[in-house]
Amino acid sequence: MNRVINFSAGPATLPLPVLEYAHDEFLDHEGTGMSLIEHSHRGPAYAKVHAEAKALFRELLNIPDTHEVLFMQGGATAQFALAPMNLRGPGQSADYIMTGAWSDKALAEAKITGDAREAGTGKVDGNYTRVPTQAELDLDPNAAFVHYTTNNTIMGTEFHHYIDAGDVPVVADMSSDILSRPIDVSRFGLIYAGAQKNLGPSGITVLVIRKDLAERSPDSIPKIFRYSTILNGDSLQNTIPTFPVYMVRNVLRWIQDLGGAEAMEARNREKAGMIYGMIDDNSDFFRCPVERESRSLMNPVFRLPTEQLEKDFIAEAAHAGMVGIKGHRSVGGIRTSIYNSMEPSDVSRFVEFAKSFARGNA
Ligand code: PMP
Repeated sequence: MNRVINFSAGPATLPLPVLEYAHDEFLDHEGTGMSLIEHSHRGPAYAKVHAEAKALFRELLNIPDTHEVLFMQGGATAQFALAPMNLRGPGQSADYIMTGAWSDKALAEAKITGDAREAGTGKVDGNYTRVPTQAELDLDPNAAFVHYTTNNTIMGTEFHHYIDAGDVPVVADMSSDILSRPIDVSRFGLIYAGAQKNLGPSGITVLVIRKDLAERSPDSIPKIFRYSTILNGDSLQNTIPTFPVYMVRNVLRWIQDLGGAEAMEARNREKAGMIYGMIDDNSDFFRCPVERESRSLMNPVFRLPTEQLEKDFIAEAAHAGMVGIKGHRSVGGIRTSIYNSMEPSDVSRFVEFAKSFARGNA
């Protein structure tokens, strides 16, 4: 087997030891004579996985007792619709901080079921090349919540500061930077993230929600879409996708073994540092469109002098065993997604390749 270095934006690369562990016990989970995926979601084998996944997540993100961990389906996209349906009271509006495609989609969904407005933007001359500062926000003190995307997976921008919204709950889409560094969970009313970038495979969305907010879900929305239902049912109100939760549990064990959120941050800074260093040291060839203070540690993006050179770069990288570096179709260029699971040694190999490409094509 020849594994490639996979820079895909999500589903993304996973730690090899985690894949091997799942592979080794796929047919017989912990001596039970059946695969984990054949176990009832209400039986003891899955119950153990479920409880451990939640406990590890709590521990690694240092989640206070005021907040609960929930698992839901429908991806982060379902949360674009569900967060406003659950958290916005009658006649209330919600604030959205705009950083590109994902916040656009979140705002559009919120507008279907009520009032929502833009409260700040990272758009400069038509492009989302930065995130707005706190001072640039125009926050409504009566808003039900303020929503932002902590890391914009497509634009390669990331907030490196918290949003201060006073008493208004902060809702964060952390799909592409969850658990990539320690955070102060008490500053958030709701955090949601699809698992398929930093936490595991696709198929499950992890939520961290302030319990008093979850209990506010209105009776006017169907029960299965209420945060209160998921909270009160311990995310087992109906059949949960057991395998994705099991894989998340395995990834969380791996993160814990490496030293937790602090170790992830050091590892992620090291990897991003290598890529941005390579770009800045070869600025006659590579160019990062994102302002320095807003650069993402998860999805560094950059351009080459011409689109033809970008095509050649992508093809040569694939030939050298490095895939998934084509920028999102809406923006073009190169994107290297280097989530928690990406090995620093693999990023180093990519950087060597990129430097040699620059030398050969300058
Ligand atoms: N938000 C962000 C920041 C994302 O990167 C993505 C997926 N790339 C989504 C939301 C949508 O996630 P899903 O496909 O799980 O609904």
